[in-house]
Amino acid sequence: MPVQDNYRFLKGDGEMGRLIREFHWENTSLGPVDKWPQSLKTTLSILIHSKFPMFLWWGPENICFYNDAYRPSLGNEGKHPSILGMAAIEAWPEIWDFIQPLIDSIRAGGEATFDEDLLLPIFRNGKIEDVYWTFSYSPVIDETNTPAGVFVTCSETTEKVKLVSNLLLSEQRFHHLVSDATVGIIALTGNDWNVEVVNAAYGKLINRTVQDLLNRPLFEVLPEAGHDFRPILESVLSSGEPLYLFEHPYFYHLNQEKKDGYLNLVYQPYRDQDGMVKGVMVLCQDVTDQVTAKTVLETSLEQIRLSKEAAKLGTFDLDLIKGTMEWDQRCRVLFGITHDGVVSYEKDFLTGLHPEDRKRIAGIIDKLFDKSLSDGDYDVEYRTIGVEDQQLRWVRAKGKVYFNKQDQPVRFIGSVLDITQQKLEEFRKNDFVAIVSHELKTPLTSLNGILQLAERKVKSQEDQFLTEAIHKAMVQVKKMNNMITGFLNLSRFESGNMHLDPAEFYLSELIQDAVKQIKFTTEAEIIYTSFQDLRVYADKDKIESVITNLLTNAVKYSPKNSSITVTCRLENENALIAVSDQGFGINKVDLENIFERYYRVQNNDTKNVSGFGVGLYLSAEIIRMHQGSIWASSEKDRGSTFYFTLPLSTSET
Ligand code: ADP
Repeated sequence: MPVQDNYRFLKGDGEMGRLIREFHWENTSLGPVDKWPQSLKTTLSILIHSKFPMFLWWGPENICFYNDAYRPSLGNEGKHPSILGMAAIEAWPEIWDFIQPLIDSIRAGGEATFDEDLLLPIFRNGKIEDVYWTFSYSPVIDETNTPAGVFVTCSETTEKVKLVSNLLLSEQRFHHLVSDATVGIIALTGNDWNVEVVNAAYGKLINRTVQDLLNRPLFEVLPEAGHDFRPILESVLSSGEPLYLFEHPYFYHLNQEKKDGYLNLVYQPYRDQDGMVKGVMVLCQDVTDQVTAKTVLETSLEQIRLSKEAAKLGTFDLDLIKGTMEWDQRCRVLFGITHDGVVSYEKDFLTGLHPEDRKRIAGIIDKLFDKSLSDGDYDVEYRTIGVEDQQLRWVRAKGKVYFNKQDQPVRFIGSVLDITQQKLEEFRKNDFVAIVSHELKTPLTSLNGILQLAERKVKSQEDQFLTEAIHKAMVQVKKMNNMITGFLNLSRFESGNMHLDPAEFYLSELIQDAVKQIKFTTEAEIIYTSFQDLRVYADKDKIESVITNLLTNAVKYSPKNSSITVTCRLENENALIAVSDQGFGINKVDLENIFERYYRVQNNDTKNVSGFGVGLYLSAEIIRMHQGSIWASSEKDRGSTFYFTLPLSTSET
């Protein structure tokens, strides 16, 4: 549209030029344009044609003008274009308190102002927004020589301020990150490796505080580290490449004491604006515990390996989830296998077992995998027949089954030991014991017969001395006979030759017989209380030897003349036999072991009592062969009670 003469000072295509031209100024205190002073026109001409944001307040009411460059700062849905021609107090109510004094001071002849990055929140974009400004207010002197207007050159710096504050924030965050990090961080610059940044975690590694280190040459604070670490830093600085060191040893001095440890280290060179390597940032993580644990583990593994080698132990490992089985070299030897290939439970283990042991061991393992039946402990002896060499070997296997939370077996691991030689020696020893015992029994039987004859003869002669002497000799023969019977049974049992010869009988009869026999050899009072006469189907001789053994022990391990009680009653559909004494008692540790072969309690009470530690072992085996159980309860110096159970004969139940 052609520019009227009046508006020549506003010529141009800008939006604000057009808006000013179209505005009905005659309705404002400024009056029509042709009445405007030249000073206003000139100022507006500068304003409208400038590419720099400008604002003008003119006249007593401070009527607003602004240019296209200023317009974006007013945003949308705000002041544009409504504040054009509006009095400042109406146009800028939200910042009027701030700008009024500035305007007034300029109008009063004051000096131009300059403010940088000042926050003046204004209404724009439909809301009050934080806006930062850099601006200068200066007077426009009119033809009457008075400041008729206030000229504002300004630029919005919100973006810049936000950028700077974001930068500051991220720098702050970086500092927090460094100071809160649990990894030690230190940044070093200059020839003397001055500490520019350091965190408490780094300080902790060398027992120093951040204050001890910050802004000081590192090796002045920590001279002992110079020898090892200065060359590393120098090489990183000269190469400009990062460097990673793992489990690197380090040390420092603390009160003349040398402290050391291990670190994982990352050396990261960092550059200045020109891209020159300025220093090195080091991240250090203390891995002393891990390295120590690893060393301990490696040492223990080595010890285990050596012990295994020395003890000739083999190992097995069954993963019951995957269904795999691992055997080491030694374990393979025990099953006569020379290949390194895959082995399996059915094909290699079960078939490798001696046919006479297979069912027993498979049964034990089946039970072992059932959490309700076992605690997972495995300790067995079996024979193997080598698959490739057909050789018979004796093996002792010890292991453990591990269960998951659902009580399912997940893993079965353990070790195996070749006990063939030991077994052969045991067999030889058993044979020897069997022969010796057998040979001793014959003269002992004749001796007993002779003594019985002598006893009968002496009775009629009423010779007190001879009667007692013969009685004592008979007691000793009985003791010796018991001992020899024990050895014979032991050797039979050990060589697998102990067999049961079961028959039906009443327990009371047997117990009374045994009590009578014992009474013959002791002055102790033996009380027999049987509540129920129970019939069992068992090997009478062997059960008698168990009762005799319990009674003999009750006598042996009690003071003279103390009393012993024997009971027999029905419990849980089993016969329960108990022998109680008021003797020395057994402490907890010994109590757990007394059923072991050759186990004897060693203390002042027992040191003069003769025995071999086989009686309870054999008794336990005999009761186990009868599907019964045997156990003991005891209190030191109070006495002991030994119990065993036997299933009733079927005709009884
Ligand atoms: P032995 O009596 O020949 O040593 P046993 O196997 O019969 O062997 O007993 C093992 C050990 O148990 C004994 O040495 C003894 O210390 C302890 N013991 C057995 N019975 C009793 C008991 N009634 N009172 C105290 N200790 C006992």
